[in-house]
Amino acid sequence: MERILVSACLLGQPVRFDGTGRRSDDALFEHWRREGRLVPFCPEVRGGLPVPRPPAEISGGSGADVLDGRAVILTPDGTDVTRHFVLGARQALERARSYGIRLAILKEGSPSCGSTRIHDGSFAGRKIPGAGVTTALLERHGIAVFAEDSLEDAAARLAELERR
Ligand code: SF4
Repeated sequence: MERILVSACLLGQPVRFDGTGRRSDDALFEHWRREGRLVPFCPEVRGGLPVPRPPAEISGGSGADVLDGRAVILTPDGTDVTRHFVLGARQALERARSYGIRLAILKEGSPSCGSTRIHDGSFAGRKIPGAGVTTALLERHGIAVFAEDSLEDAAARLAELERR
């Protein structure tokens, strides 16, 4: 069975920076959960950050820029937490590889898990186009990443992968 890597917070695990989860109640998601397809993972917790933790935003670029050393990830007081995010991304890739995973559904907007939108680094609630660090690393290794609001697209990719 084709497994899917999933942001742990989308399964309701209270791992977000503010100690909450963001459980998806979408029927497709629930169907995959009951099938045992979903492999939950939180890159930030696995990268060594606590719950709760200060919010963090990418400063100076996107997740790919962080991986290439051109941008950093900061908290509002300027603490550099980049290494935790990069470590978490590497561990997410390792987890995906251990299951032979080729598809991920990750939480939109996060500096780790975002796939089309991230915050702009100003902590003013503004979002810009871009992907988080974990998403960028997974995509570099051929894993398709979809946001929780694109489950139909993820289902189409899943069907395609299962036909191969
Ligand atoms: Fe959810 Fe990803 Fe943030 Fe963890 S790092 S809380 S899985 S969005």
